[in-house]
Formats: sequence, C-alpha cells, structure tokens
Amino acid sequence: MEYLSDRIRTMATSATMAMARKSRELKARGLDIISLSLGEPDFNTPAYIREAAKEAIDGNYSKYPPVSGYVDLRDAICKKFRDENGITYTRDQVVVSGGGKHSIINVILSIVNPGDEVIILAPYWVSYYDQILIAGGRPVILETTIENDFKVSLEQLESAITDKTRLVIFNSPSNPTGMVYSRGEQEAIARVIQRHEGVFLMSDEVYEHILFEGEHVSMASFDFIYDRVITVNAVSKAYAMTGWRIGYIGAPKWIADACDKLQGQFTSGVSSIAQRAALAALSGKDGSIQMMRDAFLRRRDLICNQLSGIRGLRVRVPQGAFYVLPDISYYLGKTDGTEIVRTADDLALWLLDRAGVATVGGDAFGAPGYIRISYANSDDLLTEAVRRIKEALEILK
Ligand code: PLP
Repeated sequence: MEYLSDRIRTMATSATMAMARKSRELKARGLDIISLSLGEPDFNTPAYIREAAKEAIDGNYSKYPPVSGYVDLRDAICKKFRDENGITYTRDQVVVSGGGKHSIINVILSIVNPGDEVIILAPYWVSYYDQILIAGGRPVILETTIENDFKVSLEQLESAITDKTRLVIFNSPSNPTGMVYSRGEQEAIARVIQRHEGVFLMSDEVYEHILFEGEHVSMASFDFIYDRVITVNAVSKAYAMTGWRIGYIGAPKWIADACDKLQGQFTSGVSSIAQRAALAALSGKDGSIQMMRDAFLRRRDLICNQLSGIRGLRVRVPQGAFYVLPDISYYLGKTDGTEIVRTADDLALWLLDRAGVATVGGDAFGAPGYIRISYANSDDLLTEAVRRIKEALEILK
C-alpha cells in the first residue's frame, strides 16, 4: 500500500463498476438482486457480427494490427461519419482504441497539460472527472438541475472559459441524464467554443443510436468548429458490443497522430478479432439497432411511468440512452429507524440492502440528490425492481 503511486491513491474507483461488483458479490451469496447499475445493453451481439469474428479467427487475424486500427476498419468509420453524421474525416484522422473510454483518455492525455482546465457538464459520465485528473488537468464542473432539463446555459459556459481552458467535454445523448440537446442548442454551444481560440471540444456520441426524440447532431458537423472538435464513438452501446472493447475517434490529424503515438506505447493496436467484428458491425445492417432502440423506448416509458408513482421522486423523461436520473432529495435525511440516509450514495446502498436493487448514487456523476437507474433490463425485472424500490422507500420517514 505505502508504495502505491500518488496517482493511484488519489484516483476514485469507478462508482458504476464498484456497485456492479457489490451486486455481483451479493448475487453470488445467493441473494436475489436486480442489477440496474451498469450501462450496457442486455442484448447479445447480433449474429452477423459474431460470425465475422469467427471468420476472423479462422482467417488468421492473429498478428499485430496497425496501431490506429486496420485500414479497412478506419475507412468504414470514415464512411459512417460521412453517411450518418455529415462529417468528412480521412483515414489518417481516425484512431481505433479499446473502447470509447480508451479513446477519451487518449485525447485527454494528448492535449491536456498539468494545470489545464477541462470543462465538464454535470451530471457527467463518471470517468471524465478522473481521466482529467490522471492527466494532471483540473476539472471545471458546470452544474445543472432537473429544473433546466440538465442542460447548461450559454452564460454558464461562457463564464467558465478562462485562458487555462483547453477542452470542453460534451455528451448528448447523455449518460447519466438521457438528455439530448437540440441542433439549435448545440450550434449555440459551438459558437461559444469558436470564439475562444485554443479551446477544443470533445463530443462523446456513444449513445447516438439510442435516441427516442429529435435528431442526433454531431458537433464536428458544424463547419466553423470542425478543426477544434474530436468526435468520440464506439460500437459498445449501439451494437451491444460492450465486451468487445472497440471505440474510435475522428479528429484533426495532429490529434489523431498524438493518439496513435500514445497508443503505440501503451497498447499497440487493439484486439484484431474485435476490430474485424467492429468492421462487420459498421458495414452491415440487420435491423438490430432499431430493434434494440425500440425495446429501450418501451422500457423507458414503462419505468418512467412507474417511477412517477413513487412518493417524493421527481423524474424527467429522458430522450435518449438507457438511463433515468430521478431526483431523490426528498428522501435525504430520512431514516428507517436505524440508519439515516444522508446522501444519494447512502440511498443507493440502502436500496441494495433493503430492496435488492442495484442503482448508482448520483454523487460520482456530480449529481448529489439523484440516483441513476439503468433500464437496460427486461420489462418484467424493471417492473419488479420499481415495485421493490417503492415498497422500500415507504419505510423511510
Ligand atoms: N462515454 C459514455 C458517456 C459512456 O456512458 C460510456 C460507457 O459507459 C463510454 C463513453 C465508454 O464506452 P466504452 O464501453 O466503449 O468504453
């Protein structure tokens, strides 16, 4: 312990991973736990993608792949960016990494110096915060609440930008809120960035296909800031491929070159077989994206209806992703007669204990007073989970 680096000692364990681990342990002890803590589709990877991976194994894709990814995969990614997002990238602007998470830290390490400020919009995806710290950067958090649909105002953004700001991280559809910014709102944000030379925007679009209302707009499709945007995406959520670990960026060439350089020292090119599977995913279509999206939409409606029947909870219906972030502040300070629930994290642990339902407290997302519920689960289990949550919360006085 005493010889651990300061870097590791000061780093938080991913809250979502910690909750998932805890609920797995309880399940292994035979307890009946419904897990709504992890952010992954409950579907299997579509058959045509699995077949491509099997063919890749038999086709002897067993040698080191290029650091940035196979050329045909990067070309397929360029085509995807062009056809689906209206962005032109060439293959030397694309880097394939071990999941969106890896793509994001590559970018942060490539452009953030110690002491640089990185603006993140709360509630934010947990890893942004600690990844910025790993790079020695300073996270600057812009708060939002359920009242303003978890969206930042232009004034908030404008006044947070200083001469130390290097990067703004943007995520729509959002984890953990499920909120989606409109084209007009995004364009206005892009205009703010445009006005500040030396400020870059990382647009995390991993949930683009899980969208129920409105349109998905890529930040880099606004020509006037194309040179300052890094687009991050992954096959994880859209194709139910979280375990395959393939993410990618499209970026100005100098940033892609930096990520390639970094990756050349850290990981080399990522798994050859997973890359072949990702190529199949992006090149072929069998309707599974639509099928999964429709299932998530049905579950969103189901869970939001049921949650809104619980005393004291406030819910904003999300427009994308597969999370809902109810405001649970009504329950803070209440007690079951033995324990006092002081924070959202306390409530999440209490619900795990009392209701056998794993959620994640909002504290790690920069959202104290909220809990995150992932509804990537079956209709029956969602219904049962909400019934148990409701019953348990009635105890708190
Ligand atoms: N960005 C956001 C907003 C996410 O929610 C996640 C995963 O939970 C990622 C990035 C990382 O995705 P991946 O599993 O491809 O690393």
